[in-house]
Amino acid sequence: MILTFFETKNGLIKKSSLILADYCKRLKNKFNLNIIGIVSNEINETEEEKLKFFEISKLYKIQEKNAIANCIADIAKKENSQIIILSHTYESKYILPILSSKLDYTCVSNTIEIPKNISPFEIKRNAFSGKAFENTEIKEEKVIISVNTNSYSSSDNENKSEFTLVDHNESYENNKQFEITNLEKQSSKINLRDAEVVVSGGRGLKGPENWNMIEELASILNAATACSKPVSDLNWRPHEEHVGQTGKTISPELYIAIGISGAIQHAAGVSSSKYILSINTDKEAPIFKISDYGIVGDAFEVVPKIIEELKK
Ligand SMILES: Cc1cc2nc3c(=O)[nH]c(=O)nc-3n(C[C@H](O)[C@H](O)[C@H](O)COP(=O)(O)OP(=O)(O)OC[C@H]3O[C@@H](n4cnc5c(N)ncnc54)[C@H](O)[C@@H]3O)c2cc1C
Repeated sequence: MILTFFETKNGLIKKSSLILADYCKRLKNKFNLNIIGIVSNEINETEEEKLKFFEISKLYKIQEKNAIANCIADIAKKENSQIIILSHTYESKYILPILSSKLDYTCVSNTIEIPKNISPFEIKRNAFSGKAFENTEIKEEKVIISVNTNSYSSSDNENKSEFTLVDHNESYENNKQFEITNLEKQSSKINLRDAEVVVSGGRGLKGPENWNMIEELASILNAATACSKPVSDLNWRPHEEHVGQTGKTISPELYIAIGISGAIQHAAGVSSSKYILSINTDKEAPIFKISDYGIVGDAFEVVPKIIEELKK
């Protein structure tokens, strides 16, 4: 049996969770399993209807927003789940190790395909910050995986089926062993780790005074802004925006690299983006090797033209 958790925000199911639902359905049909879903009870009715397209047999609605790992662990024990599936998001990356230690399941993060086998469990995952793939085989029967939903294309789901609704109204004592004393300052309105589109600038932009066009492009595309390490080292941009091996690892739908050479340490943090578009004056720049689309040109000419077109 598959147990999965759908993330929501303001009552809406996150896009990554809808892709995850499709992933679970394919897994169910490949190995003839059942799907049990878990979702916050803040989900609104129309969103709940969307889940009926994924052949889920039972849906638990949980009221605890601060003890999601506890809820999932309790439901997993009650239902004797064999496979727990989360999306590889910021929220689930936090839940995954807690669940693994609570349940003593083996966990595999950042998986990118449907398992080849479930007994023993064999699955492909991203390794070394997306620079390699790894085929993992797990000897234990019970596993938790997190799926990189950017690496997976969902199919059309037309047939609706009903599920049994179960309210999970347990409340859990607040037994947090740590407290957040300082929150990271966000320099852009959109959270870099959750952003679907990221506009990123490098040393090719010459100086902090030239970031207006980056911010304008980001605002038109509803994107977060990011930068290379030297840019934050030079204090052109805040450190929270630095992506790469020593910065944040991100995997948006679209990463736009402007004036960034694409050094291996930079690529390590962005190469699992679904699409990469690069703008660089040097046609030999390594960033083009990991790009899906490339524009060889001067950012100061190309970016204003893109902005102009998008504004039309
Ligand atoms: C241990 C270690 C860890 C590191 N970790 C990170 C990390 O986490 N993240 C990271 O980013 N780096 C990291 N680095 C640094 C990395 O090696 C590179 O030096 C860095 O990524 C280069 O930044 P850049 O591309 O902005 O600058 P540059 O390498 O200077 O590249 C600028 C690019 O802009 C292009 N350009 C110039 N003018 C224009 C123009 N007008 N229009 C368009 N393009 C133009 C140039 O052709 C060039 O390709 C690390 C290095 C080490 C040793």
